Amino acid sequence: MSISARRVEDPNGDLIGAAVSYTDVTDFMRALQVKDDFIALVSHELRTPLTSIVGYVSVALERADLDPLLRKHLEVVARNGQRLERLVGDLLEEVQHSGRPVPLQEQGTDLAVIVRESVVAARPSATRAGVHLEVEVPEAIAFTGDPQRLAQVVDNLVSNAIKYTGSGGRAHVRASVDGACAVIRVRDTGIGIKREDQGQLFTRFFRTREATLSAIQGVGLGLSISKSIVESHGGLIEVDSELGRGSEFRVVLPMQAERMAS
Ligand code: ADP
Repeated sequence: MSISARRVEDPNGDLIGAAVSYTDVTDFMRALQVKDDFIALVSHELRTPLTSIVGYVSVALERADLDPLLRKHLEVVARNGQRLERLVGDLLEEVQHSGRPVPLQEQGTDLAVIVRESVVAARPSATRAGVHLEVEVPEAIAFTGDPQRLAQVVDNLVSNAIKYTGSGGRAHVRASVDGACAVIRVRDTGIGIKREDQGQLFTRFFRTREATLSAIQGVGLGLSISKSIVESHGGLIEVDSELGRGSEFRVVLPMQAERMAS
């Protein structure tokens, strides 16, 4: 049941009553649950065959005597298989944890290594997209956190920076320690985001009109998952952007985090 109430005033502004409305949202909540269950079921069923496809293709690619054209084709299968795996993983994750803190497996880790590895992994797609990708990280940033989850955040920001920046553009990834926090900045010279859209970016399934119109692929889950991961580490994620000029995403992580219960 959803309840809302408002004051009813006479023309002089004096209170003469209150209007209360009750809305039965049971059907709506049930429909949401059915949708989440359906997404979870389909994603789960897709995962097993996909893992097998991606695994066998990567084994085939290890052969040194592959015909060059066949290798090229298999690389495309591998790339798209991995993209599907990420998508299925994101969908599953979102329906399982939506709105709740992400469970973390924390350990001593090095944020500089996480950022460098993410950039190394993204370099081939930056090259294909014609985006100049730069990285600036100190030798090491000792940090306690979940390395896989943190890598997921950086991967997502870096791949967005490449995806939403046209050929000839630049993406710059920087990590540093600022006082009691580690800060990761991912800046690009891409399509940018209107001010009025910036507040909604971290809401699941939200995509800007510009992203949809330019036919750049995506489902609008990466940033909402990234936000949950960052907040589970006691940090925050924010954006500065100007339409048509580019964006900067900033992740601020307290070194001595006051972690939310997971
Ligand atoms: P996806 O990229 O799969 O749509 P995300 O959750 O990662 O999902 O991003 C949500 C939306 O935020 C994108 O659809 C896009 O509209 C916008 N966005 C994210 N990163 C950028 C960026 N670097 N430049 C411009 N728009 C961006």
